[in-house]
Amino acid sequence: MTSNTLNEIEIIKSSTSKIDSVDFQNLTFGNVFTDHMLVCDYKNGQWEKPVIKPYAPFLMEPSAKVFHYGQAIFEGMKAYKDKNDDIWLFRPDQNFERFNKSATRMAMPEVPEFVFMEGLKQLINLEKDWVQKGLGNSLYLRPFMIATGPGVIAAPSQQYRFMIILSPAKSYYSGEVKVIIAEHFSRAANGGIGAAKAAGNYSAQFYPTKLANEKGFQQIIWTDDATHTKLEEAGTMNVFFRINDTLYTAPTSERILDGVTRKSVIDIAKRDNLNIEVRSVLVDELVEAAKNGSLKEIFGAGTAAVISPISGFSYKEEYFELPKLENSFAMHIKQTLTNIQNKLAEDTFGWTVKI
Ligand code: PMP
Repeated sequence: MTSNTLNEIEIIKSSTSKIDSVDFQNLTFGNVFTDHMLVCDYKNGQWEKPVIKPYAPFLMEPSAKVFHYGQAIFEGMKAYKDKNDDIWLFRPDQNFERFNKSATRMAMPEVPEFVFMEGLKQLINLEKDWVQKGLGNSLYLRPFMIATGPGVIAAPSQQYRFMIILSPAKSYYSGEVKVIIAEHFSRAANGGIGAAKAAGNYSAQFYPTKLANEKGFQQIIWTDDATHTKLEEAGTMNVFFRINDTLYTAPTSERILDGVTRKSVIDIAKRDNLNIEVRSVLVDELVEAAKNGSLKEIFGAGTAAVISPISGFSYKEEYFELPKLENSFAMHIKQTLTNIQNKLAEDTFGWTVKI
């Protein structure tokens, strides 16, 4: 499948840089992109030579399948710079694996490891000045693939474009996060594409999330589509619940994204002797725990915010406020994880990979 030329990346450097015009202290997430991008096209059953070139818009056929049938997938990762100016990725093998699982689910070709990994490394190397040092600073990495083949027949495209774009990010403080537990809408169904990072999963969330925003809530806790009784994900994050001194998170399934942060949180909790159970938590159980005071914490886990504590939830028009804790599991885990990612603590798990 892969062509013989996939051992080399062509680099066309930009003659100018935007970096001096960027206010790194006041970045809003995902709005500024670096000077270059990686492009690799798939045609005639083969991946062509990847090219790193100046970040710029590009032309596409109006009939390209991505516009009509949403054949599109992506990943979200981060690169961190340590005090010696070395740059590190966090568990990139997990994102690569998940990317190709998403590709298979969406009837798209798998991307060769060389294109994904070496593409990331060479692109980040070229943009190393964009990775800021210091806890909370990172470069957000967005690999994605779209169906570029023309024709408005509902069938998989014959042509694809894999790309990587990079965006400098500050630590992400989302403010107070109040959530609504989904009673009607779903983000995923059995047999569906919930476990893939497919573009359509995200656009399908926009409308119910907009309704939640209008009611004063920032996010939705998604429940299982069949019964709406099991708690599954929080917005675009995996979700953890602490009842008494035990942390719970749902097992991954066809409906739940296998989050890299989620699995890292589980491993840290185990190492640090926190009680952790991977099992579905029922909505009724959560409401009961909130009422009897045993519910201590809820937090989301994902690459963008790392850990995002939730301050309260609404269910059937009733609002439950969470207690404010001094020594939360969320804070311990966030600190541990960000210290590993930023090389401020020893990475005993072997998760960080030097560029
Ligand atoms: N669930 C969903 C639906 C997501 O989009 C994400 C973000 N990728 C996550 C969970 C968290 O995954 P990760 O920790 O790999 O970023």
